[in-house]
This record gives sequence, C-alpha cells and structure tokens, in this order.
Amino acid sequence: MAVESVIACLKASAQNFPEKTAFADKDRALTYEELLRTARSIGSVVSSYGLRCPVAVFMDKTAEAAAAFLGVVYGGCFYCPLDSRMPVQRLMTILSVLRPVLMITSRELEGRARELGYSGPIRCFEEISQAPDKGKELDAIADGIDREDPLYVLFTSGSTGVPKGVLVSEGVVLNYLEWLEESFSFTHRDVFGNQAPLYFDVSVHDIYGALYFGARMEILPPSYFSFPVKLVDYMQERGVTAFLWVPSAMGIMANLDVFSFGVPEKLRYVMFAGEVLPEKVLDYWLEHVPGAVYANLYGPTETFVCTAYVMGEEEKEARLRKEITGLLPIGRPIKDSQAIVLDEHLLPVKEGEAGELYMGGSCLALGYYRDEQRTAESFAGSPRLYRTGDMVRWNEKGELCYLSRRDDQIKHMGYRIELGEIEAAALGMEGISACACIYDEKKKRLILCYAGREQEKKELEKALADKLPAYMMPGHFCYFPVLPQNANGKLDRKELRRML
Ligand code: AMP
Repeated sequence: MAVESVIACLKASAQNFPEKTAFADKDRALTYEELLRTARSIGSVVSSYGLRCPVAVFMDKTAEAAAAFLGVVYGGCFYCPLDSRMPVQRLMTILSVLRPVLMITSRELEGRARELGYSGPIRCFEEISQAPDKGKELDAIADGIDREDPLYVLFTSGSTGVPKGVLVSEGVVLNYLEWLEESFSFTHRDVFGNQAPLYFDVSVHDIYGALYFGARMEILPPSYFSFPVKLVDYMQERGVTAFLWVPSAMGIMANLDVFSFGVPEKLRYVMFAGEVLPEKVLDYWLEHVPGAVYANLYGPTETFVCTAYVMGEEEKEARLRKEITGLLPIGRPIKDSQAIVLDEHLLPVKEGEAGELYMGGSCLALGYYRDEQRTAESFAGSPRLYRTGDMVRWNEKGELCYLSRRDDQIKHMGYRIELGEIEAAALGMEGISACACIYDEKKKRLILCYAGREQEKKELEKALADKLPAYMMPGHFCYFPVLPQNANGKLDRKELRRML
C-alpha cells in the first residue's frame, strides 16, 4: 500500500473500518470514525496558528494524547510530546529550544501547563476536540503534506545538559510502515500492545502501525508493568496480538517467571528495540511463547528503526534445543536504508572486526531541531550519514551485531541517558565542585561521584529532582575529597571505577 502521508492512512482506515477501535487505554477507546473527527477538529484549530510549526502536547499517556498528535499533523504542523511527569526545569529547557506556536494540554494538566513559563497559547484537548471542522480548507492543508515534511520532534538526553530535539519526517515513518507490511503479515485484526512512553519513538510503531493496518493500539497501563501477572491478564482480556517493547519490560516478565501463572495466548509478534535483549530473557520468552515471530529492531531516535533481525523458525527451534546460543544480531538495514561500519581511520572494517556504525538512506531524521551545528556534526557527508556512536561488527552472514557504545551514553531501564546530562545537572548545584556519573551495568545502578561539600543523599536527591526525570536519578552517591585525574589533568573514569 503506497500512502503519501500518515493522514492518508488515517482517512483510509476510517473509511474501511469506521466502527473499529483505533486507540484505546484502560478508561477509553476511540473508533476510527471518532479518531478522524477528533483529529479534524483539532487540526482545524491548530492550522490557525501557522503551518509546519511545532506544537507541544502536554498530556498524560492516553488514547486522546495520540489523537491530539494526529490533530496537530492534520493541521499541517508537527508535534512534540512532553512528558507530564518530567521536572518543570527540564520541560522549560525543552520549551525554550522548541518554541512551539501552541501547547495542547488536558483540563487536568492545564494548571501545570500554565506554570511552565510558556507565554504562547495553551488550549485544552476537551475544548479543541469539539471545534468546528474547517472542511475543504483543512483538506487542502492535509493534502499539501508530503514525505519531507516534519512529523514529530522527540527530545533525547543531551551530554551538555540540554536535551536534543530530533526532528523526524513523515517519510521515515512511512518507509518503516511499508517495510513492516513487506516483512510481516499484520492485518486490521491485530492489536498492538503499547508499552513505550509516547515521548519515546518505540511508540511510533504502535500509533502508526495501528493506523496503517487499520489495527488497534491498546495502551497498556504503565503501572501494570510493576504487577506483571495483572499485565498478562490484561493483555489476554484486550486481545493483544503484537508488541514492540524495550527488553527491560520483557525482562520483568522473565525475572518474575510470570508465565507460570498464564501466557498471553493471542500474541503472535514479539518485537523488541532500544537495548540489548539478554539471552536468558529471550530463552524464557521462546520457551513460553514459542509460536510468535521474534524480531530485534535497532535504531537511535535519529534513524527511527534502521536495521532489523527477524528470527527464522529453524533458528527458533535450534535455540529451544540450545543448539544455538548467544545474543541476537541487529540484522540488516531495513528498506531503502544503508549501513556502513568504519574503523577509527574512517575505513570500512572487514567481517568480524569492530567498527562504528554509520547509517544512511530513508531512515534518517531531518536533524536536531534549531541546532544546525549539532546536525552538521552528526549527520555529515553527502549523501548524508548519521554517526550512531554504536560499535558493531558484521558476522559471516552479512548481519550486523551490536557490541557496545563508543561514548558515555547508556541505556537504563530502556531509557537513553547521556551521563553528561546528569553531571551537568549536578554541577549546577550548590556545594558540588566536580562530579562524574558512572553506570554500574551489573547492578543496573547510576552512581554519582562528587567532590565539594559532603551532603546527605536526601539533600542531593531533592536538588536533582528539580532538574532530572526520575529515571535519571542516581541510585547511589559517593563523596570524594578530590576526583582522580589522569596525566592530562582530565577526570580519570577508569581509576574512579576502580576506587568505587
Ligand atoms: P534511542 O534513541 O533511545 O532509541 O536509543 C538509541 C540507542 O539504543 C542506540 O544508539 C543503541 O545504543 C541502543 N539500541 C537501540 N536498539 C538496540 C538494539 N536492538 N540492540 C542493542 N542496542 C540498541
């Protein structure tokens, strides 16, 4: 199915399946007909604030928030989801980069939205979702959207302390959807069980996958991931057939042996992305959900999903018999995308040798929003290539295998974190003269080592909570009279790790 825009997908599904649920959460559901009507109403309001401009969506994780995204796109603009639980200071920093022409919020969050120091217009979903439809005028706006137009901006952790806004075009998502259609057999009967936050691009798969196939996105209650037995019951009840989760979420189920209480029987696609899936977690899932298709998807926000590995039936059986072991590859570039692996002299590596992965082609984001310098540094060359910072190697089958990061970016509970962002936040605090954040991979713990005035953990947490989201909060703080330095006078992280 060749579609020219995500709004064309929405229109097609609303025409083919008007009564079917498009987006649902625990408390509400929107049919395709309702979704189209809601998106058109919101689009009719949004378009009066400008075209191809950013609109912030400050809402809780609900079916309505996803409908608001589509409303923004219908109105010819692009959206930026803002996490309602993020500290005010970080939201303010994001808003100062984004400078949206409009902020959409809910009645419930309106008071908080007004405390973010944003001086532009703030409108409530409840009001604008009932606004009059602009009819042909709106049609003309939606028809004018093409693949190069921006669809969303997602902010990821930035090493300097300022989050980076990754601007992604419609084309990247449409290319991915076409690849999904070519590679799997999703239909309008599928139910995508959403786990990822809406401000994380893994959820783009759920929102637009549902739209493209006329399927349903079922937002799984985030709190159920702390009660996985309840989660499995819920997935059964809601008929979840497919998901794309971060491996950490799959790990929760495995570590608590949840499937001894019951298995989500309708599940036929188990897909994961965002970090390495530990082998024992994969084995546990294969053993309990052997009938599903397993796929490892890879890609930084800057390239959305750019490579993929789909496990064949033979391999699945061999893994169940323990004849094949080891981590899954991240596979090959998806449709119209290219992968190049270069050594430190920028020369292509040979099979088996480690190098840094550069990606090119249709998966590439437009760049970092309002940051030309960073865009030029990270998306260099002609044709453009994105330098991922991930170390990989080619295996003998011509598949890519993920090895490690080149820098201080980590994944913690599925979240992408630049340790530098935590350090920048800590350095801005009173009494801290130097610091370094270390990730303890084994214990999955962030440790902040600092010099200056020794402080109580509670005191440090309180000050940091104003600046950092909960998932970036160090679990442990270590005071040092002085932090170790190397011969060049730079912080010696190796030595610091040794001293811990
Ligand atoms: P994010 O921008 O949050 O999607 O994070 C991107 C980073 O997550 C990548 O640069 C990798 O380091 C890591 N990552 C993403 N997908 C995978 C995967 N399938 N396997 C291993 N690491 C991954």
